[in-house]
Amino acid sequence: MKSKVISIICIITLVSCFFFMPNARAETLEEQKQNNQTKQEEAKKELEYVQEELSESLVKIQELDDKIRQAENEILGMDTKLTELGTKVTDTEQKLSVVQKSYEENKALMEKRLVVMYECGDVSYLDLLLRSSSLVEFLSNYYVIQEIMQSDSELLENIEKEKQEIEIKKKQLEEEKAQLKLLKAKKEQTRIIMQNNKTIQQNQIDKLSEDEKGLQDKIQEYKNEEARIENLIKLASQNYTYNVEYTGGVMAWPVAKSGTYITSPFGTREHPVRGVISFHSGIDIGNAGFGAPIIAAADGVVSLAGYNGGYGNCVMINHGNGVSTLYGHGQKILTQVGTQVKKGDLIMEVGSTGVSTGPHLHFEVRINGSAVNPLPYVQQ
Ligand SMILES: [Zn+2]
Repeated sequence: MKSKVISIICIITLVSCFFFMPNARAETLEEQKQNNQTKQEEAKKELEYVQEELSESLVKIQELDDKIRQAENEILGMDTKLTELGTKVTDTEQKLSVVQKSYEENKALMEKRLVVMYECGDVSYLDLLLRSSSLVEFLSNYYVIQEIMQSDSELLENIEKEKQEIEIKKKQLEEEKAQLKLLKAKKEQTRIIMQNNKTIQQNQIDKLSEDEKGLQDKIQEYKNEEARIENLIKLASQNYTYNVEYTGGVMAWPVAKSGTYITSPFGTREHPVRGVISFHSGIDIGNAGFGAPIIAAADGVVSLAGYNGGYGNCVMINHGNGVSTLYGHGQKILTQVGTQVKKGDLIMEVGSTGVSTGPHLHFEVRINGSAVNPLPYVQQ
């Protein structure tokens, strides 16, 4: 019974430790590099996709271009037709006015003639003829009457013809004006469609170009970051020819404060957030609080002191013989590159900079650049 209770307490303690301890860890440089390359691959794929889309869009844009040119030609043709129709309308209007004038004149003439005939009373063409006193007069009158009769008849005919012509011309004019109106509307419609196509085309080009540019920038950023990380790895693995030699033996516990302990060990483990198996290149030392003193684990020369991606504020010390130590997530760096340090010298304050969820020290021991388990080297 007692052992059961103890087991339960142990489980509860372990679970709460897992949840409440400042159990944060930094990405190693190798992990950073790998992540970066994955992101770069993703961005490249995305770029390929966008470029494919762009080339597909270019076909569509070409089609739109054809449509636009076609519409422009149509509008040009319509403009010619409009001019032609305009001339035709003016022409018809002129002709109509001429016919109308002639019609008015003839009508007036006929009315005048009718008045004369009325005023002459019953006098008909025959009466006038019979009143001739001589053959010469008869012939003369006959001739005149014939002329008049002919003229009257022609006049009447003309008037009738002109009346019809006016009707036809008026109808023609109406039709032409309707055509003109229709054509103008069609032209406006074509113009609007063309404008829309142009806008769609431009927007598509703009958007895709923007996407392409953004992705290229992103890839460039990743490449820059990769180069930076690559450089850091190179620097950290370098064998310095300083006047120090790691003579072996026990290193100092790197946090000079009592009550601190390992919250995350060295080695492979499941990532608490991402759930993937990853490699932890050092040990996390917690329960230190912000500002706790971080000290040099052994004699050496500071080879790196500055902000470094996931490590946050980071210090590396080269102890000679290919041995170096790394200290991450510091609140404040208290040393600089090239400084010779003695075991126990203050180099940084505990903090939570970089990829970290609480104040702790990420501590690494590296042999020729490769991270090894620090446990055999340090003693608490
Ligand atoms: Zn860590």
